[in-house]
Amino acid sequence: MKTGLYPGTFDPVTLGHEDILKRACTLVDRLVIGVAINTDKQPLFSLDERVRMVETIGRRIGKESGTKISVHPFSNLLVQCAEEVGARVIIRGLRAVSDFEYEYQMVGMNRSLNAGIETVFLMADAEYQAIASRLVKEIARLGGDVSRFVEPDVAAALYRKHRMVANPGGQ
Ligand code: ADP
Repeated sequence: MKTGLYPGTFDPVTLGHEDILKRACTLVDRLVIGVAINTDKQPLFSLDERVRMVETIGRRIGKESGTKISVHPFSNLLVQCAEEVGARVIIRGLRAVSDFEYEYQMVGMNRSLNAGIETVFLMADAEYQAIASRLVKEIARLGGDVSRFVEPDVAAALYRKHRMVANPGGQ
């Protein structure tokens, strides 16, 4: 049984993440989606919200692909998380060259921490390659259409969240 770990912040989960998830399912029998708790990115969505959104998508893709998908929040080191969930493979998505440098360093560091864990990079379909959670949040904040970047329930959550942030009293 080959287990993979797909870690990220998922703030929020996008169609780009979803594309990578589907591809990862062709490589492993069991996929754990690691949702980062202690992220210095100061997420817009709480851990619970991010986990729930990822779970909904994971359930659907799991059914479609026959891969067992589970969601695991983590705040420890990535390799420790991989050891915890029994994953020998870490899945990462690569978008542009800008992702490469950070990922390159991370692989080097993770390899020196645990040489038994391999990192695999996947690229999304051209249609989804440019999607980044950060930009999706910005578009939603400014009232733009995010329907081509995220699932409808995620888009609704984004608009709701931005209304709450802009109008905390709810008046
Ligand atoms: P992180 O905080 O680890 O960067 P993200 O939630 O931003 O987490 O992304 C999780 C993983 O998904 C990363 O490997 C990231 O490169 C990948 N990813 C996100 N969006 C895309 C996309 N549009 N195409 C390919 N990979 C993506």
